[in-house]
Amino acid sequence: MKYFLVHRGDDISRQLAEQFHTLAAEHGTPLCEEAPDIVLSIGGDGTLLHAFHKYKEQLETIAFVGIHTGRLGFFADWKPDELGVLAQLIFQTRTPEELSVVHYPVVEIELTTEAGIETHLALNEFTLKGIEETLVAQLDINDEKFEMFRGDGICISSPSGSTAYNKSLGGAIVHPSLAAIQIAEIASINNRVYRTLGSPIILPKHHHCDIYPREHQHMLLSIDHQYIQRSDVKSIRCRVAADLKVKFARFRPFPFWNRVREAFIGYDIK
Ligand code: NAD
Repeated sequence: MKYFLVHRGDDISRQLAEQFHTLAAEHGTPLCEEAPDIVLSIGGDGTLLHAFHKYKEQLETIAFVGIHTGRLGFFADWKPDELGVLAQLIFQTRTPEELSVVHYPVVEIELTTEAGIETHLALNEFTLKGIEETLVAQLDINDEKFEMFRGDGICISSPSGSTAYNKSLGGAIVHPSLAAIQIAEIASINNRVYRTLGSPIILPKHHHCDIYPREHQHMLLSIDHQYIQRSDVKSIRCRVAADLKVKFARFRPFPFWNRVREAFIGYDIK
């Protein structure tokens, strides 16, 4: 198995990365940046988002695993003192086929701009927001007009991203075994004149939504941790990526709802 390692750059993450490289060299496990079978992320969820985007063209052949060097991460669920155990589990796996993996859906975003069509993938979410003025955009579901949105913005998340920005917006937490995307409003304006649904919506895999901003509207778009400003977007189509999922290597069980409980509630349930 060939591996690559991405780390956050702080002292603890760098030291752990060096330890892993040493163990891998002793074991004869090759480091390969171009086409790794497993990518180890050491840092936080943000580090794993970076790793995902570095390898988003190779999702079919790569499995990700994360060690958190801050608080428990959603994607980074191994603790620093477990590095040796995790390394042995990786080294014992002789071929990628032997890895136990979970597959999580991701969001596909198709931007139609004045220059053409661009396709992006988000592990957590895609957001659009107005810059200097309220975002005004028509939202269609399955090619039918649904609502005219006015407000700060719109967030479209994957199930594994439902615990991130989406959760802060009052969205539901969605189990990643459900191939779905969630549309959550960011501070919509609702009164007698402007009306949006006001509730988060979950679309299944075979549905899509299209967002039509006002012509030349200056917007801030985010795809996970990446931000871009655009004023040439004509429409945006979001859906569950059809044949593409992200793979996480699971060397031990850590059910999604346990992860949710540990991250947001803690152990002391009375
Ligand atoms: P960051 O440093 O601002 O960290 C964001 C926080 O979100 C971290 O605590 C991280 O652990 C957590 N997080 C990331 N993905 C998660 C997930 N899938 N489930 C639960 N928690 C998760 O930013 P970053 O590290 O570059 O991460 C970018 C992410 O930050 C975006 O994808 C977005 O989800 C999130 N974000 C959240 C808000 C908000 O909640 N108001 C606002 C902007 C961005």
